[in-house]
Amino acid sequence: MAQAQKITPRAQDYSAWYNDVIMQAELADYSPVRGCMVIRPNGYGIWELMQRALDDMFKATGHQNAYFPLFIPMSFLAKEAEHVEGFAKEVALVTHTRLKATGKAGAGAVMVDPTSALEEPLVVRPTSETIIYAMFAKWIQSYRDLPLLLNQWCNVVRWELRTRLFLRTTEFLWQEGHTAHVDEADAERETRTILGLYRRFAEEWLAMPVITGVKTDGEKFAGALRTYAIEALMQDNKALQAGTSHNLGQNFAKAFNVQYQTAAGGLEHVWNTSWGVTTRLIGALIMTHSDDNGLICPPRLAPLQVVIVPIWKTDEEKKAVLEVGEGVKGDLARAGIRVQLDARDTVKPGAKYFEWEARGVPLRLEIGPRDVAQGQAMAARRTGGKTPVKLDALAATVSTALAEIQALLLARATERRDQHSVRGVTKEQLLALMKGDGGFAYGGYCGSAECEAQIKEQTGATVRVLPDPEFRSKEPSKTCVWCAKPSVAEAVWAQAY
Ligand SMILES: [Zn+2]
Repeated sequence: MAQAQKITPRAQDYSAWYNDVIMQAELADYSPVRGCMVIRPNGYGIWELMQRALDDMFKATGHQNAYFPLFIPMSFLAKEAEHVEGFAKEVALVTHTRLKATGKAGAGAVMVDPTSALEEPLVVRPTSETIIYAMFAKWIQSYRDLPLLLNQWCNVVRWELRTRLFLRTTEFLWQEGHTAHVDEADAERETRTILGLYRRFAEEWLAMPVITGVKTDGEKFAGALRTYAIEALMQDNKALQAGTSHNLGQNFAKAFNVQYQTAAGGLEHVWNTSWGVTTRLIGALIMTHSDDNGLICPPRLAPLQVVIVPIWKTDEEKKAVLEVGEGVKGDLARAGIRVQLDARDTVKPGAKYFEWEARGVPLRLEIGPRDVAQGQAMAARRTGGKTPVKLDALAATVSTALAEIQALLLARATERRDQHSVRGVTKEQLLALMKGDGGFAYGGYCGSAECEAQIKEQTGATVRVLPDPEFRSKEPSKTCVWCAKPSVAEAVWAQAY
């Protein structure tokens, strides 16, 4: 009967656990289209809260939303050489515009109309740099038009062979910011501002600690000058890239001829940035906090923050507890808390507890006849612990509890991340760590692509970032962990999603 029994424990099979948590919480489901997922209301509710928070942050930093076409002429993708190489192997193409009836029955009832072939095939956007910068070329004439700070919320398609719910799917939802600036300094400032914004969102909303830093040339975005990222450590000690911010330099401006007249009257190419986070963040949320009983959702991103479970035996008791339950629901809702009263009489309270736990609701209020008599409810936190709370001034008590749960989740995740971060690793330690428990390995790096490739081949670990100063070790290694030549930067290695 217990829902929780249907969830495979993490220690037994981590990836089965991950899928079970998603299925039990009804966050998503597999679709009839291979590699594409359906995001169910419980999962989409989390995405809506993420969108709202991020969108507010984008607007507060001067960005505006716009929308560009889903289709991109194939020739556009060819204009930036590195970019096309990065995406060519995973694009979906539209080549025809019509089907026609064959007169046959069943699956053969329609066929592609060969007379409807497009002169130029259209790419289903894998990312929108090309089509957006083609428009920027039209809109930007003068330095007065800069900076241009746009964002788009949309779906993209990257034809993936191996997919996992939320983490890697052929179609996914995201936001992509695209900006144009007068010079490199301003573009770099923007790239950094967004990286900081993503970090703040990860910590304050997802309750997920991240390391920020720059990617190596081998790991940067196809067509970028520099890529910065936020990196988090999941419970299986694999890293997850949770957001990226790219300084694109003038690569796309030159490919799409985006020029502006300077104040002095000259003509210059603009400097671009692009940045994005995706529905992968829901996967990050699940894997950062959840346990063997199911989803644990940070209160700020929980579509349902409080569930009230009334307990009764007799009709008289039922009337009394439901009346109090309704009152509590009203009080909390008026205080802006997302709350539901589970008045179903076909499900026993114990089964309700399991169900709401699996769905990650941060706080459960149980109200029985004795509680009603004492003017209280029992508050059970999804993170553990159950205490009586007075019904007077309950909204304030609940708000405090939710804030405490939010803070506890960040503290727990930070502690776990730090426990699995090893600083100043030797080659032997790096090999042993990646063969064993995994985690973040900090070590010296000579900067060569060869060392990077060999480490990847022999340990499965990649350089996640060359960390920003605040994340660096107090005394970083002076030699490369792999070749023992002088280190040019400290690096963080991990196996990654
Ligand atoms: Zn080296």
